[in-house]
Amino acid sequence: MKIIQGIPVSSGVVVGTVYVLSDSHRYVPRRTLTPDRVPGELERFENARAGAIADINDLHQAAEAEMGAETAKIFLFHVGALNDPNLSGQVSAKIQSDCVTAEYAVSSVFRAWINLFSSKADPTFATKVSDLEDIRRRLLDHLLGARFDDLHDLSPGTVVVARDLTPSQTAAFDRDKVVAFVTDLGGKTSHTAILARALSLPAVVGAQTATESVEDGLTVIVDADRGIMILDPDTPTIERAQRETERAAQYQLTLRELVDQPAITTDGVRIQLLGNIEFPGEVDTVLERGGDGIGLYRTEFLYLTSPVVPSEKTHFAAYTECLKKLDGKPLIIRTVDLGADKYTQERTRIPERNPFLGLRSIRYCLQNLDMFRTQLRAVLRASALGDVKIMFPLITSIGEFRQARMLVHDAMEDLHEEGIDYDKDIQIGMMVEVPSAAVLAPAFAREADFFSIGTNDLVQYTLAVDRTNERVAPLYNPAHPAVTKLIRDIARAARRAQIPVSCCGEAAGEPDYAALLLGLGVRTLSVTATDIPPIKRLIRSLSIPQCERIAKKAISLDSETEASAYLRDRTRKLVPQAFDGRSVDSQG
Ligand code: PEP
Ligand code: MG
Repeated sequence: MKIIQGIPVSSGVVVGTVYVLSDSHRYVPRRTLTPDRVPGELERFENARAGAIADINDLHQAAEAEMGAETAKIFLFHVGALNDPNLSGQVSAKIQSDCVTAEYAVSSVFRAWINLFSSKADPTFATKVSDLEDIRRRLLDHLLGARFDDLHDLSPGTVVVARDLTPSQTAAFDRDKVVAFVTDLGGKTSHTAILARALSLPAVVGAQTATESVEDGLTVIVDADRGIMILDPDTPTIERAQRETERAAQYQLTLRELVDQPAITTDGVRIQLLGNIEFPGEVDTVLERGGDGIGLYRTEFLYLTSPVVPSEKTHFAAYTECLKKLDGKPLIIRTVDLGADKYTQERTRIPERNPFLGLRSIRYCLQNLDMFRTQLRAVLRASALGDVKIMFPLITSIGEFRQARMLVHDAMEDLHEEGIDYDKDIQIGMMVEVPSAAVLAPAFAREADFFSIGTNDLVQYTLAVDRTNERVAPLYNPAHPAVTKLIRDIARAARRAQIPVSCCGEAAGEPDYAALLLGLGVRTLSVTATDIPPIKRLIRSLSIPQCERIAKKAISLDSETEASAYLRDRTRKLVPQAFDGRSVDSQG
């Protein structure tokens, strides 16, 4: 029995069987085949080889035009290696003799060559090592490009273990089969982690050595509350895990009684408690758990889960589905927040070097105007049918907000000319999730109809800590006084301008942090559906003056570790029941 520690991102304890997802960049598990599948595997290898040669020929031509024949010669080595009968013969022979997949044969034959070249004293060999790595990766990309189809053949009770997962891959999981996932990479507020919570899927990320420690078919326990995976557990451990699952189900039942109760503090202040969604179907879960509406609809998931670019009709259908379910309750539609860890990098030949600082979110929309206009028209048309607000993500400057708002007005004019209905007074708000917007909150408050604080990004950009990077995960701390001060100022600016301010970052769903937000003046929280009942319980157990005292103390501390320890201890003392469903270990 071995325990792998990672970062807890959702809750639940499950026992399952491992399926290791291949990764063309690093790890390819050994999978054997029945002999009748060998000819097909040889053909796959041949196709991949032909595809890789075609790619390199294209690259060679482009490089020759841009950099000259001499520099472009590097690609001739690649083509030569791929045409070398010795090398490709070894791969084919391995597939045949060991009955293994083409990707495993490629990986192991190239690995042997790379090791051989690396061990030579002659520097000529050393320079070829990275070329061989490159060719190996290219072949694997061809072989594994459509690999995720494999996920359709899984058995029930599967725990997917992968180096990393994109939100699109996670969204495509068959929930009848996949009971949990564990990744080597990732942080608590990566979009894959957010999705795990949205899907109520037990998950552990940032487990660094997970893929190299397991193999297909291994029995594991994923304890998402503690952020651990237990390999090959003994019977008493499995029984304990099953009891834990029952206890968690029991806890959820006790929270049901809160569904129809308002989120009101002990001194009578009504807090609006909304849900964050990625898919229209989640509206039901938000309402079932007692949410007052939707505070954040991450509409980019329409792109992440569709093989084609969504049309105006697709957007409109998704929004009307939400509105029908909401029956008059509010829906804040955030315009697409593509880029960074969502969608665009997977589809570009040349990924950005710093995608979180790159062409992301509103910047992406303002450079892809047709796509943006399509969405705006659909949002506006939906606004005729219910309480719809528009929200722009990642606004960093006033000009950006104005330009986006102007495009909404343009779309309104078009609809007007076409005789199509929309809400002429639709509220246009913005996420405050970049320090520049937080610092300039008073100016933005004169332009925007409402603010929603996105702590996931605000923490990342204020503390210079990549939210998806497990290596710096301990530095990612929303209780950092620098972040708290920004939030205090954003809330103050909103109050002075008399515009609503909410918080829709993941921190709003953490009981200790929610208490801090209330103390800083935030009166609307938008959280993942599963967090609605425990946060409602917290709200109903605290008074605003208590929260204000908590905020005053937390903001006065210089150290973020002291601030988070204080928040945890104080809130736990005041409202111990708010932590009933959470293990002590998950509160790091
Ligand atoms: C945020 O940044 O806090 C947020 C809610 O947006 P997202 O997590 O989608 O980036
Ligand atoms: Mg964000």
